[in-house]
Amino acid sequence: MAHNEVSVGFALCVGIFVLAVIAAIIVPIVLIFSAPSQSHSKHFVGLPSHSVRSDSDPDLFFIEEEGGMVEGILRIRREVTGNGTGGHISDSCCGYIVPMAKLKEGMHYDLDVLAFGLGSSFVDSTWMEALKLVNNAIGKNLFGERRHAEFLGLSLNGRNQIGAGHADFGGGDVLAATLIWVRCSIRTIPIASCPLETREIFEWKQFYNVDIHPFGDARVNGVSVFDLMAIFVHETLHCTNADDLRKIGCEDSTMWFSTARGETKKRSIDTATVKCMRNLYFPSTGSPRPPVSGGECERVLWWE
Ligand SMILES: [Zn+2]
Repeated sequence: MAHNEVSVGFALCVGIFVLAVIAAIIVPIVLIFSAPSQSHSKHFVGLPSHSVRSDSDPDLFFIEEEGGMVEGILRIRREVTGNGTGGHISDSCCGYIVPMAKLKEGMHYDLDVLAFGLGSSFVDSTWMEALKLVNNAIGKNLFGERRHAEFLGLSLNGRNQIGAGHADFGGGDVLAATLIWVRCSIRTIPIASCPLETREIFEWKQFYNVDIHPFGDARVNGVSVFDLMAIFVHETLHCTNADDLRKIGCEDSTMWFSTARGETKKRSIDTATVKCMRNLYFPSTGSPRPPVSGGECERVLWWE
C-alpha cells in the first residue's frame, strides 16, 4: 500500500513537471503570436478634409489651414506601364511645387518601418540610402535625425512622417503621396502675400500604398515589384520642393510623375533635377531665382 502511494505520488510529480515544461514552452509562443502590435499595423489614409483638386493637374491637391496662413500641397504618384526611353533630359525638366519655397533645414522626422511589411532592415537601409542620394544631390544635409517609428496621419500636427498602408485617394493606381505644408517664415504674413523667398516648407508627410501595390527591391525581384528606393528618392525630393514632371522629353527624369514596376534607373537623380535643386538651395545670384522658364513650374503659381 505504502509502495503504491509512493508510486502514485511520484507519477503525479512527474505529470506536474511535464505539464509545467509544456506550459513553459507553449505560453510564451501563444503570447508572442497574440501580442498586440499597434506599431506593426498598416495605416489608412484618405484625402485630407477640404482638399481642393487642381484644375490643371489631377494628382495635385491644395489644403488651406489657419485662415490662409498655412497651405498644404498633396502630390500623388501613380502607376504606369512602360518605362522612359533613356534619352537625354534637358535642363527644362525642372519644376518647383511652390515657387522658391525651401525646406526648413534640420527638422527631425519619423519613419514607421514596420508598417511597410517588407522587413525592417530592408526598409531601414533602403531609406538611409535614398536619403543619402538626395542629400548628395542637393549638396547639403537638409534633413534632421530620425526620431520615432510611428505614423500619425496626414494632418498638420508638427511632425514630419513617413508611413505605409492603404491610401484611398481615388483610383487604385496610386503608389505613393507626399504632402508638404508651406507658410511664410514671417509668421504674421498670410501665404498669399508672402515674399517668394521667405516661403518655407515647415512640415511634410510621405505615404506608401503597400496594401495595394507590391514594393521591394526591383534589382532583385524585377517587374514583380515597384522599386522602393527609387520611389523613396522621388518622394523625398518632393519634400525639398521638386515637382512632378509631365512634359514630353522628361520621361527619364527622377521627377517624372509616374513609374512602372521594375523601374530602377530613377534611383539615381538626373542632372537636370540636381541643377534645379541646387539652383534653389544655392542660388548663384545671392538670392533665389525661379526655375528655367518653359519648365513645369509656371502652372503651379496657384496663389498669384
Ligand atoms: Zn511625384
